[in-house]
Amino acid sequence: MAEKWQIKYLSALPAVDAAVTFYQQQSTALEYPHALLVQAAQTAVAQLRQKILQAKTEKELEQLRLTIDAVAGQMKVWLDSLRQPSLRRVINATGTVLHTNLGRAPLAAAAQKAMQEAAGYCNLEMKLQEGVRGSRHEHLEKLLCELTGAEAACVVNNNAAAVLVALNTLACGRKAIVSRGELVEIGGSFRIPEVMKAGGVQLVEVGTSNKTHFADYQNAIDEETALLLKVHTSNYKIIGFTASVSLPELIKLGQERGLPVMKDIGSGLLVDLTPFGLPKEPLVQECIAAGVDILTMSGDKLLGGPQAGIILGKRKYVEAIKRNQLLRALRPDKITLAALEATLRIYLTSNPLGEVPVLAMLSMSTAVLKKRAFSLAQAIERRAAGILTVEVREDFSYVGGGAMPTAKLPTYVVAVRHQRLALTEWAEKLRTATPALVGRIKDDWLLLDPRTIDEAEEEEVVQCLT
Ligand SMILES: *Cc1c(COP(=O)(O)O)cnc(C)c1O
Repeated sequence: MAEKWQIKYLSALPAVDAAVTFYQQQSTALEYPHALLVQAAQTAVAQLRQKILQAKTEKELEQLRLTIDAVAGQMKVWLDSLRQPSLRRVINATGTVLHTNLGRAPLAAAAQKAMQEAAGYCNLEMKLQEGVRGSRHEHLEKLLCELTGAEAACVVNNNAAAVLVALNTLACGRKAIVSRGELVEIGGSFRIPEVMKAGGVQLVEVGTSNKTHFADYQNAIDEETALLLKVHTSNYKIIGFTASVSLPELIKLGQERGLPVMKDIGSGLLVDLTPFGLPKEPLVQECIAAGVDILTMSGDKLLGGPQAGIILGKRKYVEAIKRNQLLRALRPDKITLAALEATLRIYLTSNPLGEVPVLAMLSMSTAVLKKRAFSLAQAIERRAAGILTVEVREDFSYVGGGAMPTAKLPTYVVAVRHQRLALTEWAEKLRTATPALVGRIKDDWLLLDPRTIDEAEEEEVVQCLT
């Protein structure tokens, strides 16, 4: 039951209709549909009513403004929040290059331009020369084959989809053999055993977590076996007393027994990064040259393109995948294809280490990082004297995205600390700024790694911090 003083306040609440009319007369800049204005007014009035009903004493309500322009002010806040996009630009200062929470690979300028152009009408499914219907799967196939040496190729929405459709095509209703040490889980929702089940494939595990031998595969093959599968353990490493069967050995076995061999390589690396201090990872071209029948990989990990799954391999298997009904549900859109095509073309005709952002960041020298860290620190100090404490330190960047989990790349970071605000409160302010700034928190400092900050973003970083 409301108290007498509460009833007095409640009866003073402006009417929704009156608030809407007042708002319409006041604001000229933005025209909202009438129904939305009514919703805004109802929300604003309901909030006031809630405050009145929750008050314990009349004194608490002394400051409460029940005027019509106070309601209009609340309406504006609510309406403005509807215009704020949920997906926003973030400056990644964490030093994690493939930050899954921040959208994995940032795209090359050429890829961004291609997406923009494809956004209107494009020849997605038309052969322009003949004026007849074409296939979306044809645009990238030649490029992918040229780059990797594969006979045929096909693109789907992500690598999880690529694995699903490939397994379903090659082994539905039959068995696929996988080493126990390779039953990976990627980011929670992708687990090899589950994907196999979803694809209608019966999993046959061989070996133990740390050791799988050639004979383990050999002995597991029976008349129901349809496929030998090898999965790259992208996000973990088994070290110590270990043994596994190499891809060429498995291919040899497959050929002897008339079974296709599939490899889920995960990251899809086309360029050797060992000269830059990164660990040796299998290259896509090497797996194809070894004679793998089907290979699947992500577009947005080390390849540095958009989210996509790339299927490469022998023509008869890729053609069978293209005929699978599932493919329709997993097919990529024109924007993805445009971005991926532009990214791949950089590898073929240009300089991927310079133009594909992921590779440029991973191959950045410590001399450059040091210089950029000192110049960023100086710019911050100049503008934030007396507010922030700033220093440059040696630290490490990470590859991220479940790739090269053990790699630590030496870098120089700018460590900053606010002299008044608590770190958690300050970090939240930075994350909710426009653009958002996300750094790495270590002890009581916010670390900013120039490796993942674009040079063009440095001024924005300084502005955001100060
Ligand atoms: C990342 C990864 C996947 C999943 O790829 P998405 O493109 O994220 O769907 C599957 N397998 C392996 C080995 C991976 O590393």
